[in-house]
Amino acid sequence: MNIETYYVPIRIRALKFASVYRLNTGNHSYMIDSGMDRTAMEFLESNGLDFKSINAIILTHMHIDHIGGAKSVQEKYGIPVYINSRDREKVLSIQNDISGFLRYSKTFLAEMGVPGNMTEAMGENHPIAAELNNYEHVDLEVFEKMPSTLNEIEYFHVPGHSPGSTCFLPKNSGVIFTGDHILQRITPNISYYDEKEDMLMEYIESLNKTKAMGKEKAFPGHGEPFEGINERIDQIISHHNERIREIGSILEDGKKTAYEVATKMHWSRGRTMDSMNLMERNFAVGEAIAHLRYMENKGYAESHLIGGIRYYRSVL
Ligand SMILES: [Zn+2]
Repeated sequence: MNIETYYVPIRIRALKFASVYRLNTGNHSYMIDSGMDRTAMEFLESNGLDFKSINAIILTHMHIDHIGGAKSVQEKYGIPVYINSRDREKVLSIQNDISGFLRYSKTFLAEMGVPGNMTEAMGENHPIAAELNNYEHVDLEVFEKMPSTLNEIEYFHVPGHSPGSTCFLPKNSGVIFTGDHILQRITPNISYYDEKEDMLMEYIESLNKTKAMGKEKAFPGHGEPFEGINERIDQIISHHNERIREIGSILEDGKKTAYEVATKMHWSRGRTMDSMNLMERNFAVGEAIAHLRYMENKGYAESHLIGGIRYYRSVL
């Protein structure tokens, strides 16, 4: 088995690069993730990636910095592209009705307590919709449709960071390609994808399942390969427990909307809601919603709709 790693520049300031891999099992070659847009292929070509040897592009998840470069490669080299079915469905439903999705996200943000003068602008800058709107639509297939000869990898579904996030495990090896499920330096963003799904609950289950596998070396979606996967999982879980305690104490002095909770949470580098751009505000409110939903399902909080706005309160 041989792994080539490429750090592809992306237009996201906080991340700067996405990691793209060429995995050669001895019999076949796979490209893992694809960067953010058309410039990724040019970068990879000029850095020596042999696209002609690739049998399949496999995507860890639906986010634009992993999926966005696949179209140009598919067009030029005719390589099939595979992703988990839950992410494929999300991508297709957003692509097929972008204006419906934006309308929905504005209504939903209003229910979450985002002030009226901001719902329009924040809805337009919804991180998933805004990016998928600009991206070149690629023909996505589900992993189940891969030819049976390409059976050297195990596809391990780890919902949380996105509904269809998937880790790739080359058989008979100690390595795992984690996408953004586990990153070494930053805590992966956990948000919401519809009105019901509890992404944090799914994420914590996925982390525990990953831990039980006891793999040694992670090849993440951003940054360099690293060891000590289980220690990193413990850190991520305690970060979320910390967040839950923080939100619990924010709710102690009375009911609040998800937006109000997000404005009172502590964000990295001392940022406040006022100093964030619209995309970052979406991420912050999304994190608050994911934690509040989890707390509600766990019985730590409850919520009620009052005049179309959802208020959360502590029940501890
Ligand atoms: Zn991601």
